[in-house]
Amino acid sequence: FAPWEDSQQKPLIEFVNVTKRFGDFTAIDNLSQKIFEREFFALLGPSGCGKTTMMRMLGGFETPTEGKILLAGQDIGNVPPNKRAVNMMFQSYALFPHLSVWENIAFGLKREGQPKDQIAARVDEMLRLTRLEKFARRKPHQISGGQRQRVALARSLAKAPKLLLLDEPLGALDKKLRHETQFELMDIQESTGTTFVIVTHDQEEAMTVASRVAVMDHGKIVQVSTPDVIYEAPNSVYVADFIGDVNLIEGNATKAESGVQITWGENTAPLVSTNSDQALAGKRVVLALRPEKVSISVERPDAPNVLRGKVIDIAYLGNLSTYHVQLETGTMVKAQIANTRRVSRRQITWEDSVWLSFSATAAVVLEGG
Ligand code: ATP
Repeated sequence: FAPWEDSQQKPLIEFVNVTKRFGDFTAIDNLSQKIFEREFFALLGPSGCGKTTMMRMLGGFETPTEGKILLAGQDIGNVPPNKRAVNMMFQSYALFPHLSVWENIAFGLKREGQPKDQIAARVDEMLRLTRLEKFARRKPHQISGGQRQRVALARSLAKAPKLLLLDEPLGALDKKLRHETQFELMDIQESTGTTFVIVTHDQEEAMTVASRVAVMDHGKIVQVSTPDVIYEAPNSVYVADFIGDVNLIEGNATKAESGVQITWGENTAPLVSTNSDQALAGKRVVLALRPEKVSISVERPDAPNVLRGKVIDIAYLGNLSTYHVQLETGTMVKAQIANTRRVSRRQITWEDSVWLSFSATAAVVLEGG
């Protein structure tokens, strides 16, 4: 069950035909999007696509050139940053070095002039939430990077914002700690019920933490969905190519019994995809196929889609190996095989002629090429 699929769900944020221009450059292009209460929403896209501009408009550091942004139904266009129920956590954390963890978390509450006992209760609650009780008296330089990240999170949640903006929140942490912290972030988001919007360059991170992911291209959101749909059913070659690793094979689509088949290369059998739109028939298309959906074998397998080629390279990744196979057409196809299937790894090596195969449901055919 996903709460955001419920049409009764109340949007917290609504971008309504928002355009943001810097001079004659359009950074955000007539974008409309809802973000619901309690969502963990990720903005993904290449450098310059407008992610930070979206965050800055939500935070109140930029105003839309056209259109409006609603927060809980109210136009926040002219509401200054400190008057919005929105907080932003920066990658640098910006903790005060001379203040203790406790004082750092209390800072915003004190500035609001809240009563002392109320502040103390709230800070203690935030310390418990982020498991920092033991470190309350320490200064930022006396705790680890992961703990500093939690202080920054505790501080930005102390005033109970409706929306928390996270700009590369885990960028300063090493990979292992980053993974652990991702789960903490998800727990904290869930237990506080705050809406989180995250921008990260780490796609895997976005896919792990977010309940919905929006993929951006040149100031527009081109697909927004749950991480599994974005990965398994991208709506364009752009999205397929941006998220994860993918093989792209160009060809012409014709109608198959179910779905479409693509004809490509000389003397090559058509490739079948049963889960693709038949309206693509007659068009130039691209077949998108994830490397982990491709099997590799010495003997010709009995499968709807088979390709013949030669192993050019094998990248050993510990749990997986990626085989780079050059087809007779010259096209390179990657097959990613779990190393628990040891037999195939021993049997197949560089320069070997192999068969690649994949099921009719494994690939998706998309317009383009
Ligand atoms: P990155 O991943 O590199 O941070 P981004 O997706 O966050 O990129 P933005 O920072 O939103 O991208 O910038 C979008 C576009 O708007 C870029 O081409 C950028 O150069 C431009 N831009 C952003 N701020 C300004 C500004 N104040 N003046 C002029 N152009 C700007």
